[in-house]
Amino acid sequence: MPTYEFRCRECGSTFDVQRPMSASSDPADCPDGHTDTVKLLTMAGLGGSAGAAAAPQGGGGGCCGGGCCG
Ligand SMILES: [Zn+2]
Repeated sequence: MPTYEFRCRECGSTFDVQRPMSASSDPADCPDGHTDTVKLLTMAGLGGSAGAAAAPQGGGGGCCGGGCCG
């Protein structure tokens, strides 16, 4: 199940929420009970290293060939 990162605009904290992709756009409540939260753009389920997505250096990739991008 993908992990989505949210930030609370009331207390400024960030927190992760695991939920199915079908619910990815649903609002999430802050652990402290605040409801004014925004979803951050993260790819937590795809490796975590930002460098890999920013600069594919002719490494052949292979991700989209294997069906894991679908
Ligand atoms: Zn909060």
